Parts: sequence; structure tokens; C-alpha cells
Amino acid sequence: MATDFPLHVVAFGRPGSGKSSVAERLGEAHGFAMVRTGALLRDAVRKGDSLGQQVESLLKAGQLVPDDLAYEVLARDLSTLRHNRLLFDGFPRTLGQVPLLDRLQAAVGFTIDRYVEIAVSADEALRRMSGRRVCPTCGATYHVTNNPPKADGVCDHDGTPLTRRSDDTPEVLRVRQSVYDNRTGPVVDHYRQTFPNRFLLINGEQSFDAVSSDLERALGLAP
Ligand code: AMP
Repeated sequence: MATDFPLHVVAFGRPGSGKSSVAERLGEAHGFAMVRTGALLRDAVRKGDSLGQQVESLLKAGQLVPDDLAYEVLARDLSTLRHNRLLFDGFPRTLGQVPLLDRLQAAVGFTIDRYVEIAVSADEALRRMSGRRVCPTCGATYHVTNNPPKADGVCDHDGTPLTRRSDDTPEVLRVRQSVYDNRTGPVVDHYRQTFPNRFLLINGEQSFDAVSSDLERALGLAP
């Protein structure tokens, strides 16, 4: 049975690793508030606010937004970070964002307990991403074969027809893989070296259920 001991986790995984789907399941099962910079940035683009206008073309191209804007979208509502279980999905993504996560921890008063890498090869990630679908209303992510919705083509939560993300085209997928290798890979290496006792490596090349339960066990959330 899950208890509610505090737990602050950063999840890493290349685009297509299944990280967001696994994180969502963990969040629902164990009461994590999700911190998803990608979803927050897409919301800003949808609303067309000034931040959204600045980042729209970068998101479409699969490029990262500048570090200060990635931080700004999080710092807009620090109260959502005052939660005893937080799961960061998509931040930090560059070495420049590492001190920004430190700043958030100091400002809000939490400590990251675990850094998790869901590891899959670039080839496997590309194959999987072509099957990814998202809910344009709530942002839930699915996969046509690995994590399908209960009813074909519609969101489990709100019944909205699922769509492909505009940054899931084949060329943009390749750009996003190399952005991950070049910009986020060094961040993962940094935490692996700096906090070896807080770093967890999960084999992402398994079924969705197996990855989810490995992660639950590694975090002490399941026996
Ligand atoms: P995601 O939903 O996490 O795959 O993020 C989608 C897009 O949002 C990325 O391709 C980037 O353009 C942008 N993005 C999300 N998080 C960050 C971040 N921490 N730093 C810079 N750009 C980000």
C-alpha cells in the first residue's frame, strides 16, 4: 500500500523513451504533482500570451527554448511546487538549467530525492514516437500499441479525439533526438556523477507495465 512520504523526482528520458506516459501513471498511482515544462509551454502557445509567442517557432522546430523562458514558465506559479510529491518531466534539460533547478529548490524549499533515467536507444525511440498520440485538451499521452486509450482514438479522461503532436513529424523527431543527446545527455551525466546515490537507471526497452513497475520499485513505492 502506498504511503505518502515526501518524494521529489526528476525524470529523464529521450523523446520516445515513454518517460511521460510512465510519469503520468506514477503520478496518478502515487499522488505526484507533475511539473511538465513542455505542457506548460504548449499551453502558453495555445493561449498566445507573450511567452507563448516567443517560444512557438522553437517548439514547432523541436528546438529547446532559452533557459530563462523554461524557468519563467515554472516560476509563474510557484505554489504548484509546494506539494510533498513532485515529479519533474522535462526540466532541467540543459546544463544552464541545473542551477535554475537549485534556485527553485531554494525558493520553494524542497530537495530532489531521486534523478531517474528511463533508458532506450535512439532507434527504438524513433520507432515508438511515430505511434504517439496526445489529448489536445488535457495533454495526456498515449501510444497506439504500447499504451492505447481504453476507447480507440479518444482520451480516457475527457473523450477528446487524440491527435499527433505538431513536433512529431519525422524530421523534427530526428532533431529532437540530437537535441537530447547534445544538450540533455550532459545533464544526466552531471547528476549521475554528482549524486550517484540518488540516481536510478531504469531499462526503458521493456513493456510499459514492466517499466512502470521497475520505476515504482526503484523509488520505494512498491515492494
Ligand atoms: P516535451 O513535451 O517535454 O517533449 O517538450 C516539448 C518542447 O518544449 C521541447 O521540444 C522544447 O521545445 C520545449 N521544452 C520543454 N521543456 C523545456 C526545457 N526545460 N528547456 C527548454 N525547452 C523546453
